[in-house]
Amino acid sequence: MPTSAPWDSLWVDLSVATMDGATMSEADGYGAIADAAVGIKDGRIAFVGRRADLTDAPEALATEVHSGQGGWMTPGLIDCHTHLVYGGNRAREFEMRLNGASYEEIARAGGGILSTVTATRAASEDQLLAATLPRLDSLLAEGVTTVEVKSGYGLDTETETRMLCVARRLSQVRPVEVRTTYLGAHALPPEFKGNPDGYIDRICTETLPAIAEAGLADAVDAFCEGIGFSVDQTRRVFETAKRLGLPVKLHAEQLSNLGGARLVAEFGGLSADHIEHLDEEGVAAMAQAGTVAVLLPGAFYALRETKLPPIELLRHHGVPMALSTDNNPGTSPVTSLLLMLSMGCTFFRLTPAEALAGITRHAAKALGLTDRGVIAPGLRADLAVWRIEHPAELAYAIGLNPCMAVVNGGVVRSPRVEAP
Ligand SMILES: [Zn+2]
Repeated sequence: MPTSAPWDSLWVDLSVATMDGATMSEADGYGAIADAAVGIKDGRIAFVGRRADLTDAPEALATEVHSGQGGWMTPGLIDCHTHLVYGGNRAREFEMRLNGASYEEIARAGGGILSTVTATRAASEDQLLAATLPRLDSLLAEGVTTVEVKSGYGLDTETETRMLCVARRLSQVRPVEVRTTYLGAHALPPEFKGNPDGYIDRICTETLPAIAEAGLADAVDAFCEGIGFSVDQTRRVFETAKRLGLPVKLHAEQLSNLGGARLVAEFGGLSADHIEHLDEEGVAAMAQAGTVAVLLPGAFYALRETKLPPIELLRHHGVPMALSTDNNPGTSPVTSLLLMLSMGCTFFRLTPAEALAGITRHAAKALGLTDRGVIAPGLRADLAVWRIEHPAELAYAIGLNPCMAVVNGGVVRSPRVEAP
């Protein structure tokens, strides 16, 4: 009997937030279906609709029938901007700052981004993996099924390669899909002090081609900022990425408006991230290019920023807005995507439905992925099931994790992932 069932599994006794922009009404930002059913076959969604529209009893339709216990199902969450792999941490620096130390004193004590570079260079692949897993597990406990991971704390070819190898290994030891991004133009390594153009040469002639050749990066990113790299230097990195067939994205307009968003849009980039100082010209360029705005409220919070990203302009121009943790040791040591929902709503005034789209549908788009982020037939069965009565609870609660089950490519797991 089970072998003749059309689907491998079927979820009932739940409501579904499909987050499917193609089918949802204007008034309902969730694509909500009450008393729903979701059928899964070969790791893909085979059916989503009302339980009343099932053609037979659940047991006749699927080998396994799961009860959502009256909760809600959403797409599996997608964290589309993280620096999850790194050595050490910056808690000591955090403490020094709060004890009154100046930036100069912290730098003299070996603090700042270069302290993370030093710790990351000194760590073996296994050590980096062990340091990363607790952070990843925290994300997975909240229903994350896809995570993006950037390099950028090695800066030399060998360590950048090692970071990306660790990122790739994460999906072998945990139930998660990983997308990797090469972020060589993140900071100037000490060996290139005073010579940023020389470092960009190194990226374009040696490191990026080697990483592309090894198939270790799905995209290329840079930090375009007064304290990072100029628009011209970023353009050289993007031209190399384009030549190697890799899509680009950018840390842009975080602390000032250099025109980074226009540059990434010019290259048809996947996303412009941070963008607190983005102007309307940049917004329009992103809209034209289909570039996603990735909002990072964790960094906004940790840096006590006051300049808000131009949410109203992004809405007006129809630019999709994603939300992400920006997990990194310096400016966003955040490992909760649900907290980003809360901060996205409270700081940036997103609606809860916009915020949820930001960690599902629009986060998928920020990674160039068209097979997930929405619950619709044919897409990956990456799903999260929540003990809630309405999806707004996901953005409303602070510090509560109502995730009760996660489905990765059709396979059900508990939110808590333990080491094998
Ligand atoms: Zn970042």
